[in-house]
Amino acid sequence: MRPPLLDLVVSKFDDAFSCGELVFQGDSAEQEQIQESASGKSYNFRITQLNSLQNRPETGSILANPFAKPEPGLTILSSYGSNDEFRLVLNKYPVVKYHFMLVTKAFKSQNSPLASDELHSTLRILHDLRSSDGHENWFAFYNCGPESGASQPHKHIQFMTLPQDFTPFCSEIVTEAGRSSEDESIQPLLDPNMPFAHFIAKLSPDSIDNKDSIAMTFASLLQKTLNVLVEAKCNHISYNLCMTTEYMMIVPRAAKKFKDLIGINSCGYMGLVLCKDPDTYKKVKEVGILNILSALALPPHYVMTTNEYHY
Ligand code: AMP
Repeated sequence: MRPPLLDLVVSKFDDAFSCGELVFQGDSAEQEQIQESASGKSYNFRITQLNSLQNRPETGSILANPFAKPEPGLTILSSYGSNDEFRLVLNKYPVVKYHFMLVTKAFKSQNSPLASDELHSTLRILHDLRSSDGHENWFAFYNCGPESGASQPHKHIQFMTLPQDFTPFCSEIVTEAGRSSEDESIQPLLDPNMPFAHFIAKLSPDSIDNKDSIAMTFASLLQKTLNVLVEAKCNHISYNLCMTTEYMMIVPRAAKKFKDLIGINSCGYMGLVLCKDPDTYKKVKEVGILNILSALALPPHYVMTTNEYHY
């Protein structure tokens, strides 16, 4: 029998780090919790300066594709999934320890929507991690499309832990909805104070046993995301997807980079902002994280409360 997934991830990371296969200066990272308010409500953000991110390639290409043959020193499992269609690979430029990815073996485009096997394997991984790690909060994310903040064109879903004592706004919304005595609505959840369009769906408890359940949740959020992108006259399909064992969130995206200052991917909408150098760190704080997140997404008024198609 295979050891627990978390053990595999940890031992591969530790080996890769000690052999210099990873580029990570986590211990020298500077971190700060920042509070900003929107419509009178206060939100927490975690801003990190991680100099090792300067080594991360800004844009990959299909020709120089690191996921076609992932480096053996970074490969956690060379086959994963019900049809052995994936690999599990450490991120070479991790944002935090144990940052890893689910990568398709065959080339599939990062601009394509997640298929049911991809969604279900992602959820399976999150459940496996949670069952062996009660202290860490793992989440998965998928940066889809040209304006999502993705850098590699080969399909990959990433897994990371949230900082200790940090709760993203979407987790709060899901917890609040869980406390509500009202019947579960078929409409996605959202935070009306957040200055960007987003859709959050609580995952049904049978999602782990029923592949169709998570695929349908994704399809319904994706449909709403496409409606927003069409309404906003975007000529691309770009969004960030963030997922835990409890919920899935999609944020439609307008642009990947704020001026020449900073690129934002799914982590930004989980409240985690990464800066590559002290100057960026300082300027991001001056501009304001919510200002950056809203400039790169779409205004909340595009969120439609109907299930109609708008094509
Ligand atoms: P994204 O930027 O969302 O497309 O994610 C791609 C990730 O791949 C980035 O976070 C990079 O750090 C990571 N990466 C780049 N090159 C390699 C490599 N050779 N092996 C493993 N991960 C890599």
